[in-house]
Amino acid sequence: MKIPSRGMTRDEVTAALEAYRVDDVRWREGRAFTTAYVAGREVEEVGRDAFARFVHENALDPTSTPSAARLETEVVGMALSHLNAGPEATGNLTSGGTESIILAVKAARDRARRSRPNLVMPITAHAAFRKAAHYLGVETLDVDVDRSTLRADVGAMRDAITEDTILLVGSAPCWPYGLVDPIPELGRLALEKGLPLHVDACVGGFLLPYFRRLGASFPDFDFRVPGVTSISVDLHKFGFVPKGASLILYRDKELRRHQIYACVDWPGYAVVNATVQSSRSVGPIAAAWAVLRYLGDEGYLDLARRILEGVRRLVSGLDEIPGLTVLGRPDFALVVAASREGSVFHIADEMKARGWDIQVQLGHKGLPPNLHFLVTPGNAVHLDALLRDLREAVRSAREAKPGPLGAMAADLLSSAPPSPAVFRELLSAVGVRGGQLPERRAEIYELLNALPRPWVQGVVVEYFSELLTPPAEAVAQEK
Ligand SMILES: *Cc1c(COP(=O)(O)O)cnc(C)c1O
Repeated sequence: MKIPSRGMTRDEVTAALEAYRVDDVRWREGRAFTTAYVAGREVEEVGRDAFARFVHENALDPTSTPSAARLETEVVGMALSHLNAGPEATGNLTSGGTESIILAVKAARDRARRSRPNLVMPITAHAAFRKAAHYLGVETLDVDVDRSTLRADVGAMRDAITEDTILLVGSAPCWPYGLVDPIPELGRLALEKGLPLHVDACVGGFLLPYFRRLGASFPDFDFRVPGVTSISVDLHKFGFVPKGASLILYRDKELRRHQIYACVDWPGYAVVNATVQSSRSVGPIAAAWAVLRYLGDEGYLDLARRILEGVRRLVSGLDEIPGLTVLGRPDFALVVAASREGSVFHIADEMKARGWDIQVQLGHKGLPPNLHFLVTPGNAVHLDALLRDLREAVRSAREAKPGPLGAMAADLLSSAPPSPAVFRELLSAVGVRGGQLPERRAEIYELLNALPRPWVQGVVVEYFSELLTPPAEAVAQEK
């Protein structure tokens, strides 16, 4: 594709954009249990309207756009009081949970000044910590969770701490199982060792206080817990704000100071960035402000009630389906089920064929592969239909036969050292061409689940590299 020599009309542009969306996940229909956070039309419109209103404003220089700093500090203030912070607390709005976590790790690293820094975290901590560590030259010491509760094992984390540890991490809740780690015990460990403790409340932290008010019980996780020094909380998940809004919050300014980057030693303007981005749209900040003000405490409480009722309904429904086992007793809107008979990957395919989107998670260190359901007010109303179809899908998946890919993988593994070429060969053998995935994906997942993890990493990197490269003919110059 080339830049057209003559521009299209606005109507043409709009029509073409709309046509591109045909295959996008249809989360508004309430049949996606993946990563769409749906609170309904009104909330969607409030966020979109505020976003659009501020989308062209730049938060780069808050002295020339004072609304940016005002909106951001007010959103941060609302979240701090929501999470019981004291008067010394502060924070920033970032583009997402990953950025919030990168900043928390950077602040801890720069405060500690170790030559070979590491962070100690449960294996269930989000991949964003591994990414942050990778970007920032920090090592991660992954500690197994307590296998009976699937929550952080505080004793094992204590044993993992070294002289070069710069940060402890806990989740409230963790993404893989929706469980809140024992944050009060981690806080005591952090205080005893003089280490900062980051609580990753990205997915659930915003709604957990409402769950608590509705009678749910789980460990305390916010700034009331002594020893907690920073918390990440995504507004673009269960805050129901459009994408591009997360918060990194600190108990005090001292630690946050290490987050801020300034460069005045070049011929240009004084660069002062509190977050990773420099030029950035005020759109997400305004949207966050608008949705928080629009919903208010009562609005969030009501949304949380609908989710909590949905989670209870889903867990008891899953318990009744022969062959499925709910892993852990979820504290939050994430419900995870493993299969005792058919493969979860076939179940997901069968559900896809029936119009449902459900995420699958690969097995990890003896923990079984599983189905991961994210419950929102938007999909909770369809749970009876979901459970009916799921019962059938489990039955159909039981009949599915293993395909030939396992044997092929074994062949490849014994004959070739891993390389991008081998990874591409694997992809084409499983029917992936030009980034297009086949409709049924169970066999691909079975293969990934069976491969050594460095191979899986190679394969998914190769896949993305292909998917996100324009076709050669689109780039070639006409001679
Ligand atoms: C989603 C999530 C993240 C990463 O957030 P992004 O907004 O996707 O960058 C980090 N931690 C947890 C627990 C999450 O659920």
